[in-house]
Formats: sequence, C-alpha cells, structure tokens
Amino acid sequence: MSTRILLIGPPGVGKGTQASRLQAQTGAVPLASGDLFRSEIREGTDLGRLAKSYIDRGELVPDSVTIEMMRGRLSAARVREFGFLLDGFPRTVPQAEALERLLDELRLPLEAVMLLEVDDAVVVERLGGRLTCPNCGEVFHRVSRPPQVEGRCDRCGSELGVRTDDQPETIRERLRIYHQNTGPVVDYYENKGLLRRIDGSASPDEVFRSILAELSFVERAKSA
Ligand code: AMP
Repeated sequence: MSTRILLIGPPGVGKGTQASRLQAQTGAVPLASGDLFRSEIREGTDLGRLAKSYIDRGELVPDSVTIEMMRGRLSAARVREFGFLLDGFPRTVPQAEALERLLDELRLPLEAVMLLEVDDAVVVERLGGRLTCPNCGEVFHRVSRPPQVEGRCDRCGSELGVRTDDQPETIRERLRIYHQNTGPVVDYYENKGLLRRIDGSASPDEVFRSILAELSFVERAKSA
C-alpha cells in the first residue's frame, strides 16, 4: 500500500510528531524539508551552507533550491513503493505547482492535504519551550514533554539544544512568513478538493486519531 499525503500547518503545530506516528502506521517515507536542510547543514554540504543563511534568519530558502532538493528525495525507489509524508514542503504556491508537475511525472498523485490548525499564541508557547536533539532530531518540550534526564535525549543520549530558529524574534518572523506564503498554498489545495482541516490544538493522540479518520475516508473513496 502506498500513502501519499502532505501535512501542512504553522511551525510547531506538531507536524513532525504526527509524521513519525504516520510513518509507523503506514510505512510511508517522511520527507520533512526542514529536517533535510538541517541534515545538509550538519554534513557541511554547499546546499547546507546556502540554506543556513536563510534558516538562521527565519526566512524561506529560495524556491529553486528547495524544489531541486525535494525532487531528488521524491524520486527515490522507496517513495514509489511506500508513498510519502510531506512535511514543510510546499510552503509557497510556486513550490506547490512544481510539486504537482513532479508528482504527475512520477505518477504518484497526492491523496490528501492535512491542515493542522492552531492559534499563533499556542505556536509561540510550544516553540518557546522546544528542545531538539541535534544528533537524532527527536523533539522535547520543557513543560509538556520533558526528557527523562534533564538536557539529554531519551533516544540517543546526546545533549539537547534549542534550534537557532526557535528564538522568540525568529518564531514571530516564521509565523509572519507562514501566514503570508502558506495561506495561498492552503487555498490552492482547497480549490483542488484535497484539503482536510484538523484541530491542531488537541492532544497528539487526538490529532493522530483525526488524521487516521481522514485517511480512512480517503482509502474508502479510492476503493469505491
Ligand atoms: P521547519 O523545520 O519546517 O520549521 O523548517 C525550518 C526552516 O527551513 C524554515 O524556517 C525555512 O528557513 C527552511 N525551510 C523548510 N522548508 C522550506 C520550504 N519548503 N521552502 C523554503 N524554506 C524552507
């Protein structure tokens, strides 16, 4: 079975958390553009150096660079076999249009777009307390999901840090950019009849249940 969905929503709404649950449930390949950029930065590639200058300011990496990176990842054999869980891409209408062309070429049409909605105030609260493992990418929160040993990753034991773009000023800038660029992307998918709205302020378990309910609706429509 191949599941092909896109998770969309403001930074910190829990897209990454839901993507890893969905990966366990469906086997689809998670493709989070932000994570992919951060791994390029860790590896010190040219792409990583270029991306870092934008990411540290909370700005978007240029479309052409982002699209090329995602083209490479979406063309992988594993994606053809198991499908994909896109997270953080597309963030602009040109990216959405490029994605549609690419998925047409690959004959892997998008099945649904899950929009996780939450107020800006919740985003600021969640991201302000976020702790991230620089080694394995696991995410914690000072209040709602503290690590078992303070300052250490439960999964790999590395020292946790605060992402450079999780500083208060940068969070506000990311939210501004989200509303400015991603609002039109939401309209784009609404017009195509692919958009499913989900309350992102609910608990992670409830959000996951809502996503699965929407997915089973999509599956039923496929087999009807
Ligand atoms: P995220 O982990 O999704 O919050 O992404 C972190 C940062 O990576 C963003 O603030 C952008 O600078 C960059 N980024 C991630 N995805 C994209 C994208 N689709 N287009 C442009 N920049 C992106």
